[in-house]
Amino acid sequence: MDYIIRTNNITKTYRKKKVLNNVSIKVKKGDIYGFIGKNGAGKTTMLKAITGLVIPDEGQIELFGTTEEKDIIKQRKRIGALIESPNLYLNMTARENLFLMKIQRGIPGTNCIDKVLNLVSLKNLEKKKVKNFSLGMRQRLGIAMALLNDPELLILDEPINGLDPICIKEIREILLKINKERGTTILISSHILSELTLLANKYGFINNGKLIEETTSSELSKKCRRYLHLKINNCSNVSIILENELKIKDYEVFKDNTIRIYDEFDGEKITLTLAKHSIGVKEIMKMDEALEDYFAKLVGGDKNE
Ligand code: ATP
Repeated sequence: MDYIIRTNNITKTYRKKKVLNNVSIKVKKGDIYGFIGKNGAGKTTMLKAITGLVIPDEGQIELFGTTEEKDIIKQRKRIGALIESPNLYLNMTARENLFLMKIQRGIPGTNCIDKVLNLVSLKNLEKKKVKNFSLGMRQRLGIAMALLNDPELLILDEPINGLDPICIKEIREILLKINKERGTTILISSHILSELTLLANKYGFINNGKLIEETTSSELSKKCRRYLHLKINNCSNVSIILENELKIKDYEVFKDNTIRIYDEFDGEKITLTLAKHSIGVKEIMKMDEALEDYFAKLVGGDKNE
C-alpha cells in the first residue's frame, strides 16, 4: 500500500465560514509531511478531521488504504496524535502521566513506558512533577504520550511552536529517529516553514482553508535555490576540488572568497575535503531565508503571521 493518508475534497464550515475548502492531501508510508499554513489557515481542523475529532461536512478520508467508516475507526488505533497542547496532569511525574494514558487507552505490554521515556530523554527525571517541567520537556512528554502505542502514523499539531532552537533540534532528532528506525510516518503542522526544512520530505501548503500546493523537499529546494554558503581563506583551485573530488556542479564562487553550493550538499564532507587541501573554512551556513519568502509569496501577507 502506497498511501497512509489520502483525503479527497475535505470541507468543513463553521459559522458559515469554510475553514476547510476541498482539501486533498496525500501522505505516503515513511513520509515526514510538513503541513504549513499561517495561524487560522485550517491546519488543526484538518488534523482533527483525520484523527476523527472533527466530522467533515463533505469529502472522504482514506486511512491505511480504507475509506470504510467502521474500518477507519479500527485503523485509527494505528495512529498516535498530539493535537493542540498535551493533556497533562501537572501534579504527576512523566511516568505517572504515561501510566494513566496506558490504562485509559488500554495499551498492552509492560515496557512501552520505559521505551518512550528513553526515546524522548525523560528517563532520568523520575521524581520531577510535570508542573516543574519546561515547555520543551512538556512537549517531549506529549510526544511520548502520542508514541505510547507504537503508532505507524504520528500526527503532531505545531509541536515546536514557541520552543527555543535547542528544544526544536531535540524534537527534530526524536522525530527523525523514529521515522528512520521504526519507519513511522509523520504528519506535522507548523506556521513556520523553515522549522520543518531539516525534517520534512514533503510539504502541503494551506491558506484560508485551501490547499495551495503539495510539493517534495527537493522540488522546494530547486524552487527556492536553497544553498550552502561557505567563506574560505583561499579560492584559487577550489573549483577543481568541488567538481573533481566532490562532484559538485551547481555552485558559484565569488571574489570575496565566498562560495554558494546549490546541489544537494553534505557540509561535513565538503569541509573535510577542503581541509585536506589546506583550505580553511571560516563560515558555513545553510541559507534558508528564501524559503520563508517563497511561503509568503504562496500565501500572501506577512511571513509568519
Ligand atoms: P492555529 O495555528 O492558529 O491553530 P490553524 O491553521 O490550526 O491555526 P484552525 O485551528 O484549524 O487553524 O482554525 C481555522 C479557522 O477555523 C479559524 O478561523 C478558527 O477560528 C476556526 N475554528 C476552528 N475551530 C472552530 C470551532 N470549533 N468553532 C468555530 N470556529 C472554529
